[in-house]
Amino acid sequence: MNIPLTIKKTQMGLKEKKFSAVELVDAYLARINTFDKELNSFITVSDEHAYREAGDVDKSIKELGKEAFLKYPLLGVCVAHKDVFLTKSIRTTAASKVLENYIPAYSATVVKKMADAGSITLGKTNCDAWAHGSSGENSDFGPSKNPWDKEYVPGGSSSGSGVALAANFALIATGTDTCGSVRLPANYCCLFGLKPTYGSVSRYGVVAMASSLDSIGHLARSTEDIEKVFLVTKGLDQKDSTLAERNFQISKTKLRLGIAKEFFTEGLDEEVKNSVLASANFFEKNGFEVKEVSMPYTKYGISVYYIVQPAEVSSNLGRYDGIRYGGERKRFADEAKRRIMLGTYVLSSGYYDAYYLKAMKVRSKIIEDVQKVFENVDVLIAPVTPTPPFKLGEKVNNPLKMYLTDIFAATANLSGIPSLAIPCGFTKTGLPLGFQLMGPKFSEPLLFKLGKLYEDWTNWKPKVASLST
Ligand code: GLN
Repeated sequence: MNIPLTIKKTQMGLKEKKFSAVELVDAYLARINTFDKELNSFITVSDEHAYREAGDVDKSIKELGKEAFLKYPLLGVCVAHKDVFLTKSIRTTAASKVLENYIPAYSATVVKKMADAGSITLGKTNCDAWAHGSSGENSDFGPSKNPWDKEYVPGGSSSGSGVALAANFALIATGTDTCGSVRLPANYCCLFGLKPTYGSVSRYGVVAMASSLDSIGHLARSTEDIEKVFLVTKGLDQKDSTLAERNFQISKTKLRLGIAKEFFTEGLDEEVKNSVLASANFFEKNGFEVKEVSMPYTKYGISVYYIVQPAEVSSNLGRYDGIRYGGERKRFADEAKRRIMLGTYVLSSGYYDAYYLKAMKVRSKIIEDVQKVFENVDVLIAPVTPTPPFKLGEKVNNPLKMYLTDIFAATANLSGIPSLAIPCGFTKTGLPLGFQLMGPKFSEPLLFKLGKLYEDWTNWKPKVASLST
């Protein structure tokens, strides 16, 4: 069967009985079995679990007919969860050997909410271990390959989630974004990716990386699908006290799109730059006011991130002491050790003021920049990364070079604002290109509106890579 590429088409097929949910699972698993040995996007395929959920979906459709789709908004949606989301009775490793044999006793709120809305869990996707990375190459289970060109990285840390969608192994994939980990694989795999407002989606049951930065997002092939999943996952949760809900009013006057000059610096690849500016042009041609703005402190974002984040990592990873759960500490690989050491250093007495405290002060300045800029514009457009996908192995031995991949991602995480990554074409050599739209806190409705407009103007069609064995 031809697997549909959007939620709407999948649910239409189920409604019209073109296929059953069990047949849909058959089709996805057949593709995974054929192609994933090489692409390595899944750490665990939960086929038994998937068939059980698919059976329930078919039963609901039989009993309730079309009503079932109103009751369960994600009915029949096959999902791949990043392997940092706890899944009851399905192994969850965070792509680290420390948790190689960990079978959670409960599911993350997001996993539960999606399953309660009718989704089917196909398995757990590969990622950089503990979500530390930008390329997927830090996984203790081996790197994933980019389906658009297997010599290239798919972007990290939610690497397997990007690959699984680009290869059509699933309809939706979840991810986490602490500094770009949803947007980056979306960008490198020709997908849409949402990093929501900090505190809008529950983090209960998700392996913590850096708690003042972590947000839970997802990847899909259209803005509409991103929105559908977000509407299910967002909202208060008794088990996560960092959550908040706010209504957002979309301005009725002419919308203003900001181009911050600090995001178009030296070192930005020409093709990336031109594709982002060409996308901004679409907004201008369609009645938006496009304004150049300045956010002087954002250029320090990546430096601040690489102090605050390891500090929080060193604290969060302290619980994996091999006594309560998880394997021995010596099973931590190099990247996690590097971050634990750096984090411990910047928090240690004598160095705390010079590094951590200073970084927190600069973070406040970045937050002020962001607040000020949204007095002048409704939304910002920026590249997601400075370059298109890079080759596997190209940066693994140079952590600093790897860290610079996140340079344009940091602002949204440090300030807590939402960002939607949108694909916009391909390089001359056929690698995906994209851009991000950032709005004020809780402006997801605006980002969805703009994403849909952009898709309409450009007549965008969901895309998957063509694969051969
Ligand atoms: N690439 C970033 C890092 O290595 C961000 C990771 C993430 O967003 N989880 O820290």
